[in-house]
Parts: sequence; structure tokens; C-alpha cells
Amino acid sequence: MPPVVFHKGKFMPLADASVGIMTHALHYGTAVFEGIRGNWNAEDEHTYIFRMREHYDRLLAGCKVMRIRLPYSAQELCDITTQMVEKCGYAQDIYIRPIAYKSEERVAILNLDPLASSFSVLAIPFGAYMDLEAAARCCTSSWRRMEDTMIPPYLKISGLYVNSILAKTEAVLAGFDEAILLNQHGYVSEGTGENLFMYRGGKLITPPVEDNALPGITRNTVSDIARNEFGLQVVERHIPRSELYLADEVFLTGTAAHLTPVGSVDNHLISDGNMGPITRQLQTMYFDMVRGKVPKYIHWCTQVATKLVSA
Ligand code: PMP
Repeated sequence: MPPVVFHKGKFMPLADASVGIMTHALHYGTAVFEGIRGNWNAEDEHTYIFRMREHYDRLLAGCKVMRIRLPYSAQELCDITTQMVEKCGYAQDIYIRPIAYKSEERVAILNLDPLASSFSVLAIPFGAYMDLEAAARCCTSSWRRMEDTMIPPYLKISGLYVNSILAKTEAVLAGFDEAILLNQHGYVSEGTGENLFMYRGGKLITPPVEDNALPGITRNTVSDIARNEFGLQVVERHIPRSELYLADEVFLTGTAAHLTPVGSVDNHLISDGNMGPITRQLQTMYFDMVRGKVPKYIHWCTQVATKLVSA
């Protein structure tokens, strides 16, 4: 069965869904997107979409700032997405990409307000984004994370991602797996598509959103389970770059990256360079949770009856 997407108000085969080259969002990044995971549970043969409502709440917040008006509520966006995933029938992990964009076919820097808006959502089979066992080699980027005075960094605005992609490119070309961006004051902000946590002195520490980090849904999930399931103290505070070198553990969190261990930063080993015990504990619980295996957190999962047509 060919992948089904929702585009221009209806479900259609992926091959039929396209936009014109004059589309405003293509030229200026005037779009807001999300990354949502559908996690395949091989035991009960269902897909579990994780915290879909929170993703759509964040998308709609971005739409407000970008003056993208959609004819759908957050609940309707969730329903469209669930139906699409059902129609695709993937019996494997998937990544769901909704995008709300300025679809007006006009090439000019204009007042956003009256420009036409559209919404599309698609799903692709998607395994691990980064290695979940071998700890990542990270570097501090020479690019700084965008400030709210430039483009709001708390929202997933497409144009903002040029910043992440420049940092990722620089890191990979220099032989690293991932970049860590600092903000204008030199404090650690986050990865290119992940939030960052450091375990140090018995506490889990993550930069506050005020240091230009995206308020990540995985960040929130991991903070919750660290506190409530493992009794850890979770602190939001500035992290100077060099403090990372002294951490007992560092890991990255994100919908795509799940919970990815960091083994070194700027060629300084983090402890022995392997995944640490706190990271492993959190990662194990997180994987069970996102596959609908932890009854206490099942309310975060939308179960989709997949028809097993395209394993
Ligand atoms: N930071 C950035 C820049 C991101 O793109 C993402 C991915 N959405 C994250 C952090 C992690 O956010 P979440 O856990 O909500 O996926």
C-alpha cells in the first residue's frame, strides 16, 4: 500500500501531494512543523503515538506567532493524524511530520497576516536517529542558538532550523556526531534537534528555556520520570560550556533522538566515555513508556490499530 498523507484538506497518496515552487514557505521558511513518533509495539501489534496532543499544542502556538490560521483544533489535528497512521498501516516505528505553512504562491517579503495557510501531515518509517548505545561525540558549535529577539527559539519555526543545520553540518564535517549550541551569553542551550541533560553531583541539570532551549516534550517526559520514578532532583539552571566536561553523565533528548548518551564533548571524555547508569535507567523506562508498556503513563499514548499491511 503506498504511503497516505493528508494534504490540501484530504487524504491522498504521497506521490500526489506537492506544492508549487512559488510557495511562500519554500522561499522564506514561513512554516511551523512538528516531529511526532509512532512507536511500534511488536507484542500487541499496535502503534503508539506519543504525546500527540502536546505536539499539536506546540504547533498551534507556533501558528499563532506566525499568523498561520488553520481550520482545525488541536483535537481535530490529532484525529486527522490518527486516521492517516491507520491508513498507512506501518508495522514498524514511524516519524510523523505535520507542517503548517504559508501556502500563498507569492514571492515577496510581505505582511504574513493575510497570506493563505495550509496544513499537511505525513509519516515515514523511522528507526534510530542517533546511536542509542554508543555514546555520541559532540562538539560545541561556533554557531550560537538563535535569540528570541531574532526568531523565537521556543517554537518549531522552519526558518529557525537553518541555525541547527549549519551547526550540524559544521560538527559532522569536523568528525563529530552532534553539535551543542551555546546562547549569546555563552551558556549551553541544546543540541541541533535535542535538549541536553547533565548528571552532576547527584542532580539532573538541564538549561532553562530562557537559555533559548526548545521546551521539548521528551525533556518534560524525562524530567517527570526522573523525579517521580527514580526520585532524582531535576534542576533547571545555566550550564557553562566547560562544566559539561566535568559532568558524570550527559545525554540528549528529543522525539527523534529519544534519549541519546553523550560520550565526549569537545574531545573531553564524559566519565569513561560510555553510557552512564542514570542515562541507561531513564532510557530503559522511556522506551517501555513510549511503546505503551507502562500503564501509569498510558494516557500519553494514542493507540492505533495498525492493519499490518506494510511491515
Ligand atoms: N530542540 C530542538 C531544536 C528540536 O528540534 C527538538 C525536536 N523537536 C528538540 C529540542 C526536542 O524536542 P521534543 O522532545 O519535543 O521532540
